[in-house]
Amino acid sequence: MLCCYWVPSFSLFRTRELSVASQFSSFSFAPNRKISCMDAAGLDSDGREFDTAGEMWREQVGDPSKKTQWYRDGVSYWEGVTATVDGVLGGFANVNEPDISCSEDFLNTLLSERFSADARRQPLVALDCGSGIGRVTKNLLIRYFNEVDLLEPVSHFLETARETLGLGCPTNSDMHKAVNFYCVPLQDFTPDTGRYDVIWIQWCIGHLTDDDFVSFFKRAKDGLKPGGLFVLKENIARSGFVLDNEDRSVTRSDLYFKELFSRCGLHVYKSKDQKGFPEGLFAVKMYALTTEAPKRAPRTKSKIPTKTNRPRTIH
Ligand code: SAH
Repeated sequence: MLCCYWVPSFSLFRTRELSVASQFSSFSFAPNRKISCMDAAGLDSDGREFDTAGEMWREQVGDPSKKTQWYRDGVSYWEGVTATVDGVLGGFANVNEPDISCSEDFLNTLLSERFSADARRQPLVALDCGSGIGRVTKNLLIRYFNEVDLLEPVSHFLETARETLGLGCPTNSDMHKAVNFYCVPLQDFTPDTGRYDVIWIQWCIGHLTDDDFVSFFKRAKDGLKPGGLFVLKENIARSGFVLDNEDRSVTRSDLYFKELFSRCGLHVYKSKDQKGFPEGLFAVKMYALTTEAPKRAPRTKSKIPTKTNRPRTIH
């Protein structure tokens, strides 16, 4: 699902996504009901439409055996993929470079704004979630963090990551090293309390159901150091959601994500759009998420007379 796992039919797919997006302008909701983005319609990769995300989730994971099957299918899909950059990028190895470079700009901003020189005297620690073969760790995280842990449920991916990043590898030094390799899916993972400055989650959260998404982030908050943050980098649907029947993952819209963040008690500290990807792929966004609400600038009395541009109250 990451970039374009639906590539064989991607032009059709995109057209379908657009056609559903355009329906939303006339989408009506029952009066007096709180409008939620989960009420928005979505599609699957075969072009089937769902009226709401709830309808899709009930069908896909509505009982415990379906849910087990959902996660089993997701991992099975990746077990059949070669452990290469091309493999984890769905045949789009060429997005590796712009992906890393855009992430690096974002990370640099976050580090300079959020981690004072003082904090940087402590070892900086990151967790790479759904790390695949360790592409993001190897090309980015290991250069900025003193320790990186990797979490990945597909064992042949994690083994490849261990071979390129583990003890004795050129990327591994006393100051910058991959430490723990966890072969666990996100929905079953609880990080050690207060270990991480950054928890990086890229192109894997679509495998989690909404409920598991929320409970993962709620648990993982305790894994952050004070002032630490999550970085979520994901494909974004134009509206509603797109279910990928092949790898059992869901691409959510920006609004859908924001509703889930609020259910997790998380705040968007900053976000940034990925640039420089080939046409035809999903849009990609990075969100930096914090547990604390953003500080609002104190309201100061304007020294400039506001008489002329203050809106008048109609009595
Ligand atoms: N983040 C990596 C890999 C992306 S490919 C990168 O950007 O290079 C998607 C990854 O999500 C695969 O490695 C896949 O095994 C992993 N994945 C699938 N289901 C998962 C789950 N339930 N929890 C965590 N990771 C999962």
